[in-house]
Amino acid sequence: MSNVLIIAEAFKGQVRRASLHALGAGQQLARRTGGTLHVVLLGKGIGEAAKSLAGYGATVHAADHDALAAPLAEAHAPVVAALARAIGATYVGAAATTYGKDLTPRAAALLDAAMATEVTAFAGEGATVLFRRPMWAGNVLADVELVTAVKAFTIRPTEYAQATAGAAGEVKAAAVEVPALKTRYVSFKEVKSERPELTEARVVVSGGRGTKGDFKPLEALADALGGALGASRAAVDAGWVPNDWQVGQTGKVVAPDLYVAAGISGAIQHVAGMKGSKVIVAINKDPEAPIFQIADYGLVGDLFKVLPELVAKVKAGSGH
Ligand SMILES: Cc1cc2nc3c(=O)[nH]c(=O)nc-3n(C[C@H](O)[C@H](O)[C@H](O)COP(=O)(O)OP(=O)(O)OC[C@H]3O[C@@H](n4cnc5c(N)ncnc54)[C@H](O)[C@@H]3O)c2cc1C
Repeated sequence: MSNVLIIAEAFKGQVRRASLHALGAGQQLARRTGGTLHVVLLGKGIGEAAKSLAGYGATVHAADHDALAAPLAEAHAPVVAALARAIGATYVGAAATTYGKDLTPRAAALLDAAMATEVTAFAGEGATVLFRRPMWAGNVLADVELVTAVKAFTIRPTEYAQATAGAAGEVKAAAVEVPALKTRYVSFKEVKSERPELTEARVVVSGGRGTKGDFKPLEALADALGGALGASRAAVDAGWVPNDWQVGQTGKVVAPDLYVAAGISGAIQHVAGMKGSKVIVAINKDPEAPIFQIADYGLVGDLFKVLPELVAKVKAGSGH
């Protein structure tokens, strides 16, 4: 029997949506291996958030402690590792968020576990779970077998459905022992925006070098559709928009219902971050631009002409 431990994450007292996708992956693993499902939430004052995780058929472990108030991987990893040992976890995983990507490898090292990152599916047959993960900017998918006793992984939230409701699990207090730390938490600077968070938005409007730094027409469309703004690396590198707008291999991976790419050529490194979107609309004045190969709808034209027309149509259509 292979028990499964999922590391969840809370922000401002709420479990992050990405964690529910990780828990969905955990449910798949537990079903497949016949193991029991556990989920751990670490932080300070996370009692209510921990309770909200109780309806997914997993035992919830709340590690609620002053020493865990900051999301420091160095402090959180020993608690995760100790819990994994205590419950006999074979699989230890999290969503590939900034927190998950920071914490999981540290916990894996403490557990002598091999690790697969950005996993998109569990492949293989029966008890042998292979971790499918993208390589070469998503051009190659590798099925990786982890041969250590404990196996660690992070999943791409966009590739797994959220956990489905299950039996109400017990919420237990996890043992917390934090050794002397070499890192110190200094501060957290939150980027405040009226728009939805890029990775959680239903609609994303992204701009590239073709915008020449003028994102106003994109902002108008994003606001008309209640969407978030994204960008190619070219737009970020030019200093036109903040780093955290970057979509792609070295940026964020998004899979909204609607992705609008305006003035973006469609380089593989960009496509790696958005090809899972349900509907892709490309606006580019070059009919040969590679983005049209993956677009569901392509508009060959100047974005400065096309976008205002689209905004007017959306506003007319929605009665604004
Ligand atoms: C290791 C590595 C990692 C990378 N990671 C990323 C990543 O995470 N994300 C990412 O995006 N890139 C990434 N890149 C960069 C990537 O290779 C491309 O250089 C980048 O995506 C190009 O951005 P772009 O499409 O905005 O610019 P360009 O390729 O220059 O395309 C601009 C497009 O705008 C069109 N255009 C121009 N004017 C207009 C107009 N008025 N109206 C309509 N269309 C117009 C042009 O026809 C053109 O197709 C990475 C590269 C490397 C090597």
